[in-house]
Amino acid sequence: MRLALLGVAHETNTFSRVPADYDSFRIFRGDEIVREYRESHSTNAGYLEAAERFGCEVAPLVYATAGPIGTITADAFDRIVGEMLRLLKDQGPWDGVLLSQHGAAVSDDYPDVDGEVAARVRALVGPDVPVGMTLDLHGNLTQKMIENTTATVLYRTNPHLDPRPRAVECAEIIVRTIRGEVRPVQALEMPPLVVNIVKQFTGEQPMLGVMNDLDEVLARPGMLSGSVAEGYPYSDVEEMGMGFLAVSDGDAGAARDAARWMAQRAWANREQFVGDTPSPEEALKMAAAAAKGPVVLMDVGDNIGGGSSADSTVLLAEAKRLGIGDYLQTLYDPEAVIACVAAGVGADLTLKVGGKTDDLHGSPVEVTGCVRLISDGKYEETTPVHGGFRFFDDGTRVVLETTDDHTLLLTSRRSGNTTRQQMYSAGIRPEDKRVVVAKGVVSPRPAYEPIAAQIILVNTPGVTTSDLSFFEYRRRRRPLYPFEPDATFP
Ligand SMILES: [Zn+2]
Repeated sequence: MRLALLGVAHETNTFSRVPADYDSFRIFRGDEIVREYRESHSTNAGYLEAAERFGCEVAPLVYATAGPIGTITADAFDRIVGEMLRLLKDQGPWDGVLLSQHGAAVSDDYPDVDGEVAARVRALVGPDVPVGMTLDLHGNLTQKMIENTTATVLYRTNPHLDPRPRAVECAEIIVRTIRGEVRPVQALEMPPLVVNIVKQFTGEQPMLGVMNDLDEVLARPGMLSGSVAEGYPYSDVEEMGMGFLAVSDGDAGAARDAARWMAQRAWANREQFVGDTPSPEEALKMAAAAAKGPVVLMDVGDNIGGGSSADSTVLLAEAKRLGIGDYLQTLYDPEAVIACVAAGVGADLTLKVGGKTDDLHGSPVEVTGCVRLISDGKYEETTPVHGGFRFFDDGTRVVLETTDDHTLLLTSRRSGNTTRQQMYSAGIRPEDKRVVVAKGVVSPRPAYEPIAAQIILVNTPGVTTSDLSFFEYRRRRRPLYPFEPDATFP
């Protein structure tokens, strides 16, 4: 039995002004996929693991991935998807296909890239070859994805600690389908409901209740799989919002009932999915007044994992204004890194940092400080963190200690804060700080929850702000709750 492994994974923030062109993608081919991912906790690792577990051959063809920036250019889509289909055709025939996608990809020509990829793969291999697809749970599910796959499986944790077991689950359904043991039938329900990004943590209500409902569905007899899409509010596409998917063994009615039951239960609690977070000033004052630190402030508007710039200075400027020190944050600023490297370790200098990508994430802030450390920015995380990544690269980076008692880790690449190794490898102990800024909403939790006295989500501005009224949507469906509060779900 021979299965193809391939995919293009992108989380597209259509409000970001940085296009995802061909060069923004990292493309792995053949054994490069094995070398990069086999020992990780990612979707690809799960597909590769499935080969040993189920005694089949899984052939890694090509996998393209880019940081979560703006819309995929038509050129990048054509070249990447063109290569995928060419390899699939040239190296076939296949008993099955395993797609490694994200679920929130948008290109210039296709608002539903993941559905389009599935449709093209389906057209190429024909109706009888099972196609499995594994997605991130905060993508937007579509009918096109479901119609063109045999089974689609989404991660069930946000932060994402389970891509690998979900990919194994998806591959198992495909293998069992090929062997004639099961006959997957999928049903999708999409209530007109958006989950605010600050409510997408699956370890807390309201998502915890949704995931408990999913567990109940998974325990029903004959249910092969089930998934919940939280929706990706920063992709302005028609299907943006929640999706509930059930996959039963041959029973379309059971799948439909299960998907519908989950959707109705979430809809009944719809008020709980609306955002409610403190302003930067409120959050910083709460941190300063807390009995003990570190207080981790989630910079929601500068969520690198959601397509943001990584150089927001909103919290930094506010901390400076309020005179709050004992404060740590990262900032993407390659120019400032060059200036600090030129000055050298131990040098004092005054310069402007951050806020240089666009005018949505604060202005550059003038700071005076001492360069404490210069490093190549490479570090490794061996425990499961968000997304299952292992190797990290901030680019050349420096630690700047400012006269405001702020520790700034300036990076040359747009890095998030998903592992504390980022700090330890730079000689910084976040445990010892009063205020630690983590750019993101959910992704920094596995790293910072173990040491945080308190975590506060902050309503900062930016391309990933939780204040969705900030965006001008053109393509989303209407009505959609909470934009249209009187939306109904039959
Ligand atoms: Zn994700």
